[in-house]
Amino acid sequence: MIKRDEILRNLSRYDLNETRIGTICSHSALQIFYGARQEGFKTVGVCTPDKRFVYEAFQFGKPDDYITVDEYRDLTKSRFQDELLRRNAIIIPHGSFVEYVGAENIKREFYVPTYGNRRALEFEGDRRKMRSWLQEAGVKVPKEYPGPSKIDRPCIVKFHGAKGGRGFFVADSEERCQEQVEKRIKEGTLKESDLKEATIQELIVGVRYYPQFFYSLMFEGEVKAGEGRVELLGIDRRVESNVDDLYRIPEQQNRPPIEPSYVVTGNLPVVLRESLLPKVLDLGRRVVDASVRLFPPGIVGPFCLETICTDELEFITFEVSARIVAGTNLYPEGSPYSCYIFSKPMSTGRRMALEIKEGISKNRLADLLS
Ligand code: AMP
Repeated sequence: MIKRDEILRNLSRYDLNETRIGTICSHSALQIFYGARQEGFKTVGVCTPDKRFVYEAFQFGKPDDYITVDEYRDLTKSRFQDELLRRNAIIIPHGSFVEYVGAENIKREFYVPTYGNRRALEFEGDRRKMRSWLQEAGVKVPKEYPGPSKIDRPCIVKFHGAKGGRGFFVADSEERCQEQVEKRIKEGTLKESDLKEATIQELIVGVRYYPQFFYSLMFEGEVKAGEGRVELLGIDRRVESNVDDLYRIPEQQNRPPIEPSYVVTGNLPVVLRESLLPKVLDLGRRVVDASVRLFPPGIVGPFCLETICTDELEFITFEVSARIVAGTNLYPEGSPYSCYIFSKPMSTGRRMALEIKEGISKNRLADLLS
């Protein structure tokens, strides 16, 4: 287990005038490097040889230099970590970073100063802990069922470790659930034991909004939350295959209906009716305040809530991403919300760099890192 003292010791050896922003070349790295460059930072990308050309194809989104690894899991090897320390790197942990390196390995082995609170990743990676966080925040969450025998309405069945919604299905009774499970066992995509680990959640009917927030410790003002403020930097929704385009396929009498699937394939920008903003800002504020209580100093930096707005105009929150989400890639030049906070292009990537810059100038960088 890496202790905070060790990370702060490493940070104390940094030449802060030469601070670099670093991350793994994947997920939202183009936005992160571009945003860091806009704030005057040099950048370093950890990259596998086959991906390098992708970043070279975007001259303003590529890192200033690379550390080449055979696979991203290698990043915990001390020679690569020491290389990052030599470059005064602050690492931004995006979704692929967490997935490839592993939340547990980050906690146990990664000693390079990392933006945000590592404990947030623990709450994000465990559905039970995530739910307790949302409940602590007092936001509305979907009803959950202890097992298939209790299913009494349309439910979505989610499996642990399922990435991007793969393998989720909908069932409105124990029998339908069993049918789906048997079908998947036959296909070889599921083991009987996986069902024990599954989350069975009421299927919320409504429209999805995924607000992208930022909890700032360096800037004051509304919306006050924790020790700082929470900013709404954008909203997106995911485009999922096949459910989002199922309506295009006509029903036919001679074949069974096509089962919906929920595999994430991309993101779309959305804006809310302005009269709904109080509710969404309140969600952000509550989730930050709860995080400060549960794992101080809380969810430092960017996070995203996955919500569904019902026709009663009530938001039900079913997931938190405790880091930059890929949906922010829609807004490298800012969003229809961030412009009203900054009056200049402000992506989430740039926002992190701005916060780090402010942390350096206020001599409070350590408060932003773990
Ligand atoms: P998740 O992996 O929890 O982000 O879920 C993947 C996708 O499944 C979401 O983006 C939604 O489209 C859908 N989904 C998850 N939970 C629910 C729910 N309780 N009700 C309706 N749709 C859901």
